[in-house]
Amino acid sequence: MPAPLHELHFGTRFQRALPVDPDVSPWAREVRGAGWSRAAPTPVRAPRLLAWSDEVGALLGAERPEATGPGVEVLAGNRVPAGMEPFAACYGGHQFGQWAGQLGDGRAIGLGDVTGPGGTFEVQLKGAGPTPYSRRADGRAVLRSSVREFLCSEAMFHLGVPTTRALALVLTGEPVMRDMFYDGNAAPEPGAIVTRVAPSFVRFGNFELPASRGDVPLLQALANHVIGAHHPEVGKADADGVLQFFRLLSERTARLMARWMALGFVHGVMNTDNLSVLGLTIDYGPYGWLDVFDPDFTPNTTDYQEGRYRWRQQAAIGHWNLLRLARALTPLVGSAAPLEAIVAEYPALHGAAWRKELSAKLGFTIQPSDDALVMEMFGALGAAETDWSLFFRGLANVPRTGDPLPALAEAFYAPPNAELCRRWGAWLASWRLRTAAEAEAPRRERMNAANPLFLPRNWVVQECIEATEGGDDGAVERLLAVLRHPFDEQPDSARLAGRRPDWARNKPGCSALSCSS
Ligand code: AMP
Ligand code: MG
Repeated sequence: MPAPLHELHFGTRFQRALPVDPDVSPWAREVRGAGWSRAAPTPVRAPRLLAWSDEVGALLGAERPEATGPGVEVLAGNRVPAGMEPFAACYGGHQFGQWAGQLGDGRAIGLGDVTGPGGTFEVQLKGAGPTPYSRRADGRAVLRSSVREFLCSEAMFHLGVPTTRALALVLTGEPVMRDMFYDGNAAPEPGAIVTRVAPSFVRFGNFELPASRGDVPLLQALANHVIGAHHPEVGKADADGVLQFFRLLSERTARLMARWMALGFVHGVMNTDNLSVLGLTIDYGPYGWLDVFDPDFTPNTTDYQEGRYRWRQQAAIGHWNLLRLARALTPLVGSAAPLEAIVAEYPALHGAAWRKELSAKLGFTIQPSDDALVMEMFGALGAAETDWSLFFRGLANVPRTGDPLPALAEAFYAPPNAELCRRWGAWLASWRLRTAAEAEAPRRERMNAANPLFLPRNWVVQECIEATEGGDDGAVERLLAVLRHPFDEQPDSARLAGRRPDWARNKPGCSALSCSS
Protein backbone atom coordinates (compact mmCIF):
# COMPACT_ATOMS: atom_id res chain seq x y z
CA MET A 1 0.00 0.00 0.00
CA PRO A 2 1.40 3.42 -0.90
CA ALA A 3 1.98 5.65 2.13
CA PRO A 4 1.46 9.39 2.47
CA LEU A 5 4.72 11.32 2.03
CA HIS A 6 4.80 12.51 5.61
CA GLU A 7 4.62 8.92 6.81
CA LEU A 8 7.42 7.55 4.61
CA HIS A 9 10.58 6.41 6.33
CA PHE A 10 13.64 8.40 5.24
CA GLY A 11 16.82 6.41 5.82
CA THR A 12 20.32 7.81 6.29
CA ARG A 13 22.39 5.45 4.13
CA PHE A 14 24.47 8.22 2.53
CA GLN A 15 24.87 10.18 5.76
CA ARG A 16 26.02 7.12 7.76
CA ALA A 17 28.53 6.15 5.07
CA LEU A 18 30.51 9.39 5.20
CA PRO A 19 31.89 11.63 7.92
CA VAL A 20 29.72 14.64 8.76
CA ASP A 21 30.85 18.26 8.93
CA PRO A 22 30.88 19.01 12.69
CA ASP A 23 29.87 22.64 12.11
CA VAL A 24 26.06 22.86 12.25
CA SER A 25 25.78 26.55 11.31
CA PRO A 26 24.03 27.43 8.05
CA TRP A 27 26.76 29.83 6.85
CA ALA A 28 28.74 29.35 3.70
CA ARG A 29 32.16 27.91 4.44
CA GLU A 30 34.93 25.61 3.37
CA VAL A 31 34.20 22.07 4.55
CA ARG A 32 37.12 19.65 4.91
CA GLY A 33 37.24 16.03 5.98
CA ALA A 34 33.46 15.55 5.56
CA GLY A 35 31.17 14.22 2.84
CA TRP A 36 28.17 16.27 3.90
CA SER A 37 26.80 19.00 6.15
CA ARG A 38 23.53 19.24 8.01
CA ALA A 39 21.16 21.51 6.08
CA ALA A 40 17.55 22.10 6.99
CA PRO A 41 15.19 23.21 4.24
CA THR A 42 13.88 26.76 4.71
CA PRO A 43 10.06 26.77 4.97
CA VAL A 44 8.09 28.57 2.26
CA ARG A 45 4.93 30.64 2.49
CA ALA A 46 2.27 28.87 0.41
CA PRO A 47 3.36 25.59 -1.18
CA ARG A 48 1.09 24.09 -3.83
CA LEU A 49 1.55 20.91 -5.87
CA LEU A 50 1.85 21.60 -9.60
CA ALA A 51 2.86 18.20 -10.90
CA TRP A 52 3.45 14.67 -9.71
CA SER A 53 4.94 11.65 -11.47
CA ASP A 54 2.86 8.56 -10.78
CA GLU A 55 5.62 6.19 -11.92
CA VAL A 56 8.17 7.66 -9.53
CA GLY A 57 5.60 7.68 -6.73
CA ALA A 58 5.06 3.97 -7.38
CA LEU A 59 8.82 3.26 -7.20
CA LEU A 60 8.90 4.81 -3.74
CA GLY A 61 5.53 3.56 -2.56
CA ALA A 62 4.45 7.18 -2.06
CA GLU A 63 0.86 8.31 -2.37
CA ARG A 64 0.04 11.30 -4.53
CA PRO A 65 -0.62 14.21 -2.15
CA GLU A 66 -3.42 16.77 -2.34
CA ALA A 67 -2.55 20.12 -3.91
CA THR A 68 -1.96 21.47 -0.41
CA GLY A 69 -1.59 19.69 2.89
CA PRO A 70 0.89 17.54 4.83
CA GLY A 71 2.36 15.70 1.80
CA VAL A 72 3.17 18.92 -0.03
CA GLU A 73 4.62 20.35 3.19
CA VAL A 74 7.29 17.61 2.96
CA LEU A 75 7.95 18.37 -0.72
CA ALA A 76 8.31 22.07 0.13
CA GLY A 77 10.65 21.53 3.07
CA ASN A 78 8.08 22.93 5.51
CA ARG A 79 7.79 19.64 7.34
CA VAL A 80 10.75 17.45 8.36
CA PRO A 81 9.35 14.10 9.55
CA ALA A 82 10.89 12.54 12.66
CA GLY A 83 14.05 10.59 11.85
CA MET A 84 14.86 12.53 8.69
CA GLU A 85 18.38 14.03 8.62
CA PRO A 86 18.39 16.52 5.74
CA PHE A 87 21.80 17.29 4.31
CA ALA A 88 23.88 18.95 1.62
CA ALA A 89 26.67 16.94 0.00
CA CYS A 90 30.20 18.31 -0.31
CA TYR A 91 31.79 18.12 -3.76
CA GLY A 92 34.03 20.03 -6.14
CA GLY A 93 34.38 20.06 -9.86
CA HIS A 94 36.01 21.17 -13.08
CA GLN A 95 33.86 23.91 -14.59
CA PHE A 96 34.43 24.71 -18.28
CA GLY A 97 37.83 23.04 -18.12
CA GLN A 98 39.09 24.75 -14.96
CA TRP A 99 39.36 23.31 -11.46
CA ALA A 100 36.79 25.24 -9.42
CA GLY A 101 37.51 23.84 -5.94
CA GLN A 102 34.67 23.25 -3.50
CA LEU A 103 31.12 23.62 -4.87
CA GLY A 104 28.67 21.30 -3.07
CA ASP A 105 24.88 21.16 -2.91
CA GLY A 106 24.14 24.88 -2.90
CA ARG A 107 20.44 24.47 -3.51
CA ALA A 108 19.81 20.76 -3.29
CA ILE A 109 18.90 19.27 0.06
CA GLY A 110 18.97 15.50 0.48
CA LEU A 111 16.10 14.11 2.52
CA GLY A 112 17.60 10.63 2.76
CA ASP A 113 16.76 7.30 1.14
CA VAL A 114 13.37 5.71 0.70
CA THR A 115 12.92 1.99 0.10
CA GLY A 116 9.81 1.15 -1.88
CA PRO A 117 8.59 -1.39 -4.44
CA GLY A 118 11.17 -0.12 -6.98
CA GLY A 119 14.18 -0.36 -4.70
CA THR A 120 16.11 2.15 -2.60
CA PHE A 121 16.33 5.74 -3.80
CA GLU A 122 17.78 8.99 -2.55
CA VAL A 123 15.21 11.79 -2.46
CA GLN A 124 16.32 15.38 -2.85
CA LEU A 125 14.67 18.80 -2.93
CA LYS A 126 16.11 21.27 -5.45
CA GLY A 127 15.46 24.89 -4.52
CA ALA A 128 14.62 24.40 -0.84
CA GLY A 129 16.82 27.18 0.52
CA PRO A 130 20.45 27.91 1.33
CA THR A 131 22.99 25.40 2.58
CA PRO A 132 26.62 25.79 3.69
CA TYR A 133 27.50 25.41 -0.02
CA SER A 134 25.31 28.22 -1.35
CA ARG A 135 28.18 30.73 -1.40
CA ARG A 136 26.48 34.07 -2.13
CA ALA A 137 23.40 32.59 -3.83
CA ASP A 138 19.93 32.05 -2.36
CA GLY A 139 19.48 28.27 -2.62
CA ARG A 140 16.23 28.79 -4.53
CA ALA A 141 15.04 27.90 -8.03
CA VAL A 142 12.60 29.66 -10.34
CA LEU A 143 9.52 28.03 -11.80
CA ARG A 144 10.79 28.05 -15.41
CA SER A 145 13.96 26.08 -14.65
CA SER A 146 12.04 23.74 -12.34
CA VAL A 147 9.42 22.94 -15.02
CA ARG A 148 12.32 22.25 -17.40
CA GLU A 149 14.01 19.87 -14.97
CA PHE A 150 10.79 18.09 -13.97
CA LEU A 151 9.68 17.46 -17.55
CA CYS A 152 13.04 16.61 -19.06
CA SER A 153 14.05 14.11 -16.39
CA GLU A 154 10.80 12.20 -16.82
CA ALA A 155 10.92 12.51 -20.63
CA MET A 156 14.46 11.12 -20.66
CA PHE A 157 13.34 8.10 -18.65
CA HIS A 158 10.58 7.37 -21.17
CA LEU A 159 13.09 7.84 -24.00
CA GLY A 160 15.16 5.06 -22.45
CA VAL A 161 17.98 7.29 -21.19
CA PRO A 162 19.59 6.63 -17.80
CA THR A 163 18.59 9.65 -15.70
CA THR A 164 17.70 11.01 -12.31
CA ARG A 165 13.91 11.16 -11.93
CA ALA A 166 11.46 13.80 -10.81
CA LEU A 167 8.73 12.98 -8.31
CA ALA A 168 7.06 16.33 -7.88
CA LEU A 169 7.00 20.01 -8.74
CA VAL A 170 5.81 22.43 -6.09
CA LEU A 171 5.21 26.18 -6.27
CA THR A 172 6.57 27.89 -3.19
CA GLY A 173 4.27 30.90 -3.23
CA GLU A 174 7.35 33.08 -2.84
CA PRO A 175 9.13 35.20 -5.43
CA VAL A 176 12.76 34.63 -6.38
CA MET A 177 14.88 37.46 -7.78
CA ARG A 178 16.74 36.59 -10.97
CA ASP A 179 18.72 38.52 -13.56
CA MET A 180 17.78 36.28 -16.49
CA PHE A 181 19.88 38.07 -19.11
CA TYR A 182 22.78 38.97 -16.80
CA ASP A 183 22.24 42.61 -17.76
CA GLY A 184 21.71 44.12 -14.33
CA ASN A 185 17.91 43.93 -14.49
CA ALA A 186 16.91 41.47 -11.80
CA ALA A 187 13.18 40.83 -11.52
CA PRO A 188 10.98 38.69 -9.27
CA GLU A 189 9.87 35.32 -10.64
CA PRO A 190 7.74 32.59 -9.07
CA GLY A 191 9.80 30.15 -7.02
CA ALA A 192 9.47 26.36 -7.20
CA ILE A 193 10.98 23.16 -5.86
CA VAL A 194 11.56 19.92 -7.75
CA THR A 195 11.75 16.67 -5.79
CA ARG A 196 14.43 14.59 -7.50
CA VAL A 197 14.86 10.85 -7.07
CA ALA A 198 17.83 8.67 -7.98
CA PRO A 199 19.71 5.66 -6.64
CA SER A 200 22.52 8.14 -5.97
CA PHE A 201 23.35 11.78 -6.62
CA VAL A 202 27.11 11.25 -6.23
CA ARG A 203 29.04 13.11 -8.92
CA PHE A 204 32.57 12.85 -10.33
CA GLY A 205 33.24 15.98 -8.24
CA ASN A 206 32.50 14.20 -4.94
CA PHE A 207 35.69 12.19 -5.55
CA GLU A 208 37.67 15.05 -7.05
CA LEU A 209 37.39 17.34 -4.02
CA PRO A 210 38.95 15.04 -1.38
CA ALA A 211 41.53 13.91 -3.96
CA SER A 212 42.53 17.54 -4.56
CA ARG A 213 43.10 17.89 -0.82
CA GLY A 214 44.98 14.64 -0.39
CA ASP A 215 42.17 13.32 1.86
CA VAL A 216 42.52 9.60 1.15
CA PRO A 217 40.31 8.40 4.05
CA LEU A 218 37.36 10.40 2.69
CA LEU A 219 38.07 9.19 -0.83
CA GLN A 220 38.08 5.61 0.43
CA ALA A 221 34.82 6.13 2.35
CA LEU A 222 33.18 7.43 -0.84
CA ALA A 223 34.40 4.43 -2.84
CA ASN A 224 33.17 2.08 -0.09
CA HIS A 225 29.74 3.71 -0.25
CA VAL A 226 29.37 3.84 -4.04
CA ILE A 227 30.60 0.28 -4.53
CA GLY A 228 28.85 -1.12 -1.45
CA ALA A 229 25.48 0.47 -2.15
CA HIS A 230 25.44 0.51 -5.96
CA HIS A 231 27.81 -2.20 -7.18
CA PRO A 232 27.49 -5.02 -4.66
CA GLU A 233 28.61 -7.49 -7.35
CA VAL A 234 32.04 -5.80 -7.33
CA GLY A 235 32.64 -6.70 -3.70
CA LYS A 236 35.28 -4.78 -1.76
CA ALA A 237 36.37 -1.25 -2.70
CA ASP A 238 40.03 -2.24 -2.85
CA ALA A 239 42.25 -1.38 -5.81
CA ASP A 240 40.65 -4.05 -7.96
CA GLY A 241 37.11 -3.09 -6.91
CA VAL A 242 37.74 0.57 -7.74
CA LEU A 243 39.03 -0.44 -11.19
CA GLN A 244 35.94 -2.57 -11.81
CA PHE A 245 33.67 0.30 -10.78
CA PHE A 246 35.59 2.73 -12.98
CA ARG A 247 35.42 0.39 -15.99
CA LEU A 248 31.65 0.09 -15.58
CA LEU A 249 31.29 3.85 -15.32
CA SER A 250 33.47 4.40 -18.38
CA GLU A 251 31.25 2.03 -20.39
CA ARG A 252 28.10 3.68 -19.10
CA THR A 253 29.38 7.16 -19.89
CA ALA A 254 30.38 6.09 -23.41
CA ARG A 255 26.90 4.70 -24.00
CA LEU A 256 25.17 7.68 -22.38
CA MET A 257 26.96 10.13 -24.67
CA ALA A 258 25.98 8.06 -27.71
CA ARG A 259 22.36 7.97 -26.56
CA TRP A 260 22.22 11.74 -25.89
CA MET A 261 23.71 12.47 -29.29
CA ALA A 262 21.41 10.05 -31.09
CA LEU A 263 18.39 11.79 -29.57
CA GLY A 264 19.82 15.22 -30.41
CA PHE A 265 20.16 16.14 -26.74
CA VAL A 266 22.69 18.73 -25.61
CA HIS A 267 23.18 18.81 -21.83
CA GLY A 268 24.66 22.30 -21.82
CA VAL A 269 26.84 22.18 -18.68
CA MET A 270 28.93 19.01 -18.63
CA ASN A 271 31.13 20.16 -15.75
CA THR A 272 32.44 17.31 -13.62
CA ASP A 273 30.11 18.35 -10.78
CA ASN A 274 27.25 17.58 -13.19
CA LEU A 275 28.35 14.05 -14.14
CA SER A 276 26.94 11.12 -12.21
CA VAL A 277 29.15 8.25 -10.99
CA LEU A 278 26.28 5.92 -11.94
CA GLY A 279 26.25 7.19 -15.53
CA LEU A 280 22.88 8.94 -15.12
CA THR A 281 21.90 12.18 -16.80
CA ILE A 282 21.89 14.69 -13.95
CA ASP A 283 21.35 18.43 -13.38
CA TYR A 284 19.03 19.63 -16.12
CA GLY A 285 19.86 23.28 -16.73
CA PRO A 286 20.29 25.07 -20.05
CA TYR A 287 19.85 21.90 -22.10
CA GLY A 288 18.58 21.86 -25.67
CA TRP A 289 17.64 19.62 -28.59
CA LEU A 290 18.70 19.68 -32.21
CA ASP A 291 15.56 21.21 -33.69
CA VAL A 292 17.82 22.05 -36.59
CA PHE A 293 20.73 19.70 -37.15
CA ASP A 294 23.87 21.68 -36.32
CA PRO A 295 26.80 19.76 -34.87
CA ASP A 296 28.03 22.95 -33.17
CA PHE A 297 24.74 23.69 -31.44
CA THR A 298 25.11 24.79 -27.84
CA PRO A 299 21.99 26.07 -26.04
CA ASN A 300 23.89 27.59 -23.10
CA THR A 301 24.61 31.32 -23.59
CA THR A 302 27.55 31.07 -21.14
CA ASP A 303 29.16 28.60 -23.57
CA TYR A 304 28.53 30.47 -26.86
CA GLN A 305 32.09 31.70 -27.28
CA GLU A 306 33.88 28.42 -26.77
CA GLY A 307 31.16 25.90 -27.56
CA ARG A 308 32.85 23.49 -25.17
CA TYR A 309 29.66 21.53 -24.60
CA ARG A 310 28.29 21.65 -28.16
CA TRP A 311 26.36 18.63 -29.47
CA ARG A 312 29.21 16.91 -31.29
CA GLN A 313 31.76 17.47 -28.53
CA GLN A 314 29.84 15.70 -25.79
CA ALA A 315 31.53 12.34 -26.40
CA ALA A 316 34.98 13.91 -26.12
CA ILE A 317 33.97 15.80 -22.98
CA GLY A 318 32.78 12.55 -21.40
CA HIS A 319 36.28 11.24 -22.09
CA TRP A 320 37.96 14.32 -20.61
CA ASN A 321 35.80 14.13 -17.52
CA LEU A 322 36.61 10.43 -17.03
CA LEU A 323 40.29 11.37 -17.09
CA ARG A 324 39.69 13.85 -14.26
CA LEU A 325 37.95 11.11 -12.28
CA ALA A 326 40.79 8.68 -13.05
CA ARG A 327 43.24 11.16 -11.50
CA ALA A 328 41.03 11.45 -8.42
CA LEU A 329 40.82 7.67 -7.99
CA THR A 330 44.56 7.11 -8.41
CA PRO A 331 45.38 7.09 -4.65
CA LEU A 332 42.88 4.23 -4.19
CA VAL A 333 44.43 2.17 -6.97
CA GLY A 334 48.04 2.93 -6.17
CA SER A 335 49.03 3.87 -9.70
CA ALA A 336 47.54 5.80 -12.61
CA ALA A 337 48.38 3.30 -15.35
CA PRO A 338 45.47 0.84 -14.96
CA LEU A 339 42.95 3.69 -14.71
CA GLU A 340 44.40 5.34 -17.79
CA ALA A 341 44.25 2.04 -19.63
CA ILE A 342 40.51 1.95 -18.96
CA VAL A 343 40.05 5.53 -20.19
CA ALA A 344 42.04 4.62 -23.31
CA GLU A 345 39.29 2.13 -24.24
CA TYR A 346 36.61 4.81 -24.07
CA PRO A 347 36.84 6.07 -27.69
CA ALA A 348 36.33 2.55 -29.04
CA LEU A 349 33.44 1.91 -26.62
CA HIS A 350 31.80 5.16 -27.56
CA GLY A 351 32.35 4.50 -31.27
CA ALA A 352 30.64 1.13 -31.00
CA ALA A 353 27.74 2.60 -29.02
CA TRP A 354 27.36 5.44 -31.53
CA ARG A 355 27.31 3.04 -34.50
CA LYS A 356 24.66 1.00 -32.74
CA GLU A 357 22.52 4.08 -32.12
CA LEU A 358 22.93 5.29 -35.70
CA SER A 359 22.14 1.83 -37.05
CA ALA A 360 18.87 1.82 -35.14
CA LYS A 361 18.04 5.29 -36.41
CA LEU A 362 18.84 4.42 -40.02
CA GLY A 363 17.15 1.04 -40.07
CA PHE A 364 20.14 -1.09 -41.04
CA THR A 365 23.36 -2.23 -39.36
CA ILE A 366 26.16 0.11 -40.33
CA GLN A 367 29.30 -1.58 -41.67
CA PRO A 368 32.67 0.10 -42.28
CA SER A 369 31.75 0.15 -45.97
CA ASP A 370 28.83 2.47 -45.09
CA ASP A 371 31.11 5.30 -43.93
CA ALA A 372 30.59 7.35 -47.09
CA LEU A 373 26.82 6.96 -46.86
CA VAL A 374 26.80 8.15 -43.25
CA MET A 375 29.15 11.06 -43.99
CA GLU A 376 26.99 12.18 -46.89
CA MET A 377 23.92 12.07 -44.65
CA PHE A 378 25.56 14.48 -42.20
CA GLY A 379 26.68 16.65 -45.09
CA ALA A 380 23.19 16.88 -46.59
CA LEU A 381 21.60 17.41 -43.16
CA GLY A 382 23.86 20.40 -42.66
CA ALA A 383 23.25 21.86 -46.12
CA ALA A 384 19.89 23.42 -45.19
CA GLU A 385 17.89 23.71 -41.99
CA THR A 386 16.69 20.18 -41.26
CA ASP A 387 15.10 18.84 -38.09
CA TRP A 388 17.23 16.02 -36.69
CA SER A 389 14.40 13.95 -35.17
CA LEU A 390 11.82 14.51 -37.91
CA PHE A 391 14.35 13.52 -40.54
CA PHE A 392 14.69 10.01 -39.13
CA ARG A 393 11.00 9.71 -38.40
CA GLY A 394 10.33 10.64 -42.03
CA LEU A 395 13.02 8.31 -43.31
CA ALA A 396 11.14 5.36 -41.85
CA ASN A 397 8.24 6.25 -44.15
CA VAL A 398 10.24 6.57 -47.37
CA PRO A 399 8.53 4.14 -49.75
CA ARG A 400 10.48 1.47 -51.55
CA THR A 401 9.64 2.94 -54.95
CA GLY A 402 8.43 6.28 -56.28
CA ASP A 403 9.39 9.78 -55.18
CA PRO A 404 11.11 9.44 -51.77
CA LEU A 405 11.19 13.13 -50.86
CA PRO A 406 7.59 13.80 -49.76
CA ALA A 407 8.16 11.49 -46.76
CA LEU A 408 10.87 13.87 -45.54
CA ALA A 409 8.88 17.08 -46.06
CA GLU A 410 8.17 17.57 -42.35
CA ALA A 411 11.89 17.72 -41.59
CA PHE A 412 12.75 20.67 -43.83
CA TYR A 413 12.42 24.19 -42.44
CA ALA A 414 12.17 25.49 -46.03
CA PRO A 415 11.43 23.49 -49.19
CA PRO A 416 14.74 22.08 -50.44
CA ASN A 417 16.08 23.64 -53.66
CA ALA A 418 16.72 21.59 -56.80
CA GLU A 419 20.34 20.87 -55.89
CA LEU A 420 19.40 19.60 -52.43
CA CYS A 421 16.55 17.51 -53.87
CA ARG A 422 19.05 15.90 -56.20
CA ARG A 423 21.47 15.32 -53.32
CA TRP A 424 18.84 13.70 -51.10
CA GLY A 425 17.50 11.74 -54.07
CA ALA A 426 20.93 10.17 -54.62
CA TRP A 427 21.39 9.49 -50.92
CA LEU A 428 17.95 7.93 -50.57
CA ALA A 429 18.65 5.66 -53.54
CA SER A 430 21.65 4.27 -51.65
CA TRP A 431 19.62 4.02 -48.44
CA ARG A 432 16.93 2.04 -50.30
CA LEU A 433 19.54 -0.40 -51.52
CA ARG A 434 20.95 -0.75 -48.04
CA THR A 435 17.53 -1.51 -46.50
CA ALA A 436 16.13 -3.55 -49.39
CA ALA A 437 16.71 -6.92 -47.74
CA GLU A 438 14.16 -6.39 -44.98
CA ALA A 439 10.38 -6.09 -45.28
CA GLU A 440 9.13 -2.53 -44.95
CA ALA A 441 6.71 -2.88 -42.05
CA PRO A 442 9.04 -4.43 -39.44
CA ARG A 443 11.86 -2.11 -40.50
CA ARG A 444 9.62 0.91 -40.06
CA GLU A 445 8.46 -0.34 -36.68
CA ARG A 446 12.04 -0.76 -35.47
CA MET A 447 13.03 2.69 -36.75
CA ASN A 448 10.05 4.33 -35.08
CA ALA A 449 11.04 2.70 -31.79
CA ALA A 450 14.45 4.39 -32.09
CA ASN A 451 13.33 7.77 -33.40
CA PRO A 452 11.05 9.72 -31.06
CA LEU A 453 8.30 12.08 -32.12
CA PHE A 454 7.74 13.81 -28.80
CA LEU A 455 10.61 15.53 -27.01
CA PRO A 456 10.74 18.26 -24.37
CA ARG A 457 12.05 20.63 -27.00
CA ASN A 458 12.79 24.06 -25.61
CA TRP A 459 9.87 25.72 -27.41
CA VAL A 460 7.45 23.01 -26.25
CA VAL A 461 8.55 23.41 -22.64
CA GLN A 462 8.53 27.21 -22.98
CA GLU A 463 4.85 27.16 -23.98
CA CYS A 464 4.15 24.99 -20.94
CA ILE A 465 6.09 27.37 -18.67
CA GLU A 466 4.13 30.34 -19.95
CA ALA A 467 0.81 28.53 -19.45
CA THR A 468 1.86 27.56 -15.92
CA GLU A 469 3.01 31.08 -15.09
CA GLY A 470 -0.37 32.25 -16.39
CA GLY A 471 -2.13 30.12 -13.79
CA ASP A 472 -2.80 26.88 -15.68
CA ASP A 473 -1.92 24.37 -12.94
CA GLY A 474 -2.59 21.38 -15.18
CA ALA A 475 -0.22 22.31 -18.01
CA VAL A 476 2.85 20.42 -16.76
CA GLU A 477 1.05 17.13 -16.19
CA ARG A 478 -0.74 17.39 -19.54
CA LEU A 479 2.61 17.72 -21.28
CA LEU A 480 4.08 14.93 -19.16
CA ALA A 481 1.24 12.67 -20.34
CA VAL A 482 2.38 13.24 -23.95
CA LEU A 483 6.09 12.83 -23.14
CA ARG A 484 5.35 9.47 -21.52
CA HIS A 485 4.91 7.99 -25.00
CA PRO A 486 7.64 9.63 -27.06
CA PHE A 487 7.68 7.05 -29.85
CA ASP A 488 3.91 6.77 -30.43
CA GLU A 489 1.76 8.77 -32.80
CA GLN A 490 -0.52 11.00 -30.70
CA PRO A 491 -2.79 12.78 -33.20
CA ASP A 492 -4.29 15.14 -30.59
CA SER A 493 -0.84 16.45 -29.77
CA ALA A 494 0.69 16.30 -33.26
CA ARG A 495 1.58 20.00 -33.12
CA LEU A 496 4.07 19.30 -30.32
CA ALA A 497 5.95 16.86 -32.56
CA GLY A 498 6.39 19.43 -35.30
CA ARG A 499 9.27 21.65 -36.31
CA ARG A 500 10.22 24.53 -34.07
CA PRO A 501 7.75 27.33 -34.89
CA ASP A 502 9.07 30.63 -36.20
CA TRP A 503 8.24 32.54 -33.02
CA ALA A 504 10.70 30.37 -31.12
CA ARG A 505 13.63 30.91 -33.45
CA ASN A 506 15.31 33.69 -31.46
CA LYS A 507 13.28 33.64 -28.28
CA PRO A 508 15.09 33.35 -24.93
CA GLY A 509 14.22 30.04 -23.34
CA CYS A 510 13.87 28.45 -26.79
CA SER A 511 16.99 29.04 -28.86
CA ALA A 512 19.22 30.28 -26.06
CA LEU A 513 19.25 29.67 -22.32
CA SER A 514 21.27 31.38 -19.67
CA CYS A 515 22.40 29.53 -16.55
CA SER A 516 20.22 31.87 -14.48
CA SER A 517 17.79 29.50 -12.83
P1 AMP B 1 25.07 24.13 -11.66
O1 AMP B 1 25.97 24.68 -12.72
O2 AMP B 1 23.66 24.60 -11.72
O3 AMP B 1 25.15 22.65 -11.59
O4 AMP B 1 25.59 24.71 -10.26
C1 AMP B 1 26.94 24.84 -9.90
C2 AMP B 1 27.07 25.12 -8.42
O5 AMP B 1 26.36 26.32 -8.07
C3 AMP B 1 26.52 24.04 -7.51
O6 AMP B 1 27.35 23.97 -6.36
C4 AMP B 1 25.16 24.55 -7.16
O7 AMP B 1 24.68 24.02 -5.97
C5 AMP B 1 25.41 26.06 -7.05
N1 AMP B 1 24.19 26.85 -7.28
C6 AMP B 1 23.55 27.07 -8.45
N2 AMP B 1 22.47 27.86 -8.28
C7 AMP B 1 22.41 28.15 -6.96
C8 AMP B 1 21.52 28.92 -6.14
N3 AMP B 1 20.47 29.57 -6.63
N4 AMP B 1 21.78 28.97 -4.81
C9 AMP B 1 22.83 28.33 -4.29
N5 AMP B 1 23.71 27.61 -4.99
C10 AMP B 1 23.52 27.51 -6.32
MG1 MG C 1 25.09 21.10 -10.76
